[in-house]
Amino acid sequence: MVCGNCGATIADKAIVCYRCGTPTAIPDVPRRTPPPSPARPWLVVVLLVAAAGVLGWLAAGEVAGSVRQIVYAAAGLALLAAGGWLAVGPRRGKVR
Ligand SMILES: [Zn+2]
Repeated sequence: MVCGNCGATIADKAIVCYRCGTPTAIPDVPRRTPPPSPARPWLVVVLLVAAAGVLGWLAAGEVAGSVRQIVYAAAGLALLAAGGWLAVGPRRGKVR
């Protein structure tokens, strides 16, 4: 075959041109298929932070105790984290 870059005659099985180094063809190497559109962890994080903030705010309004507020916020955060994980996890796991 003839190199498409420099015109040198090279072997048909050559992967690259011996003269200029230009690849003659894309090597037929099984590539790793890129991961499908990734989930949006940032969206989950934003939702979790916002929800935790709202929960903490609500808890602060009801009870003045800072410890309770933290407990409420932590509980809400844990619940939302679990929900977010369930929402995102299964899709990640089902990669063909
Ligand atoms: Zn060449």
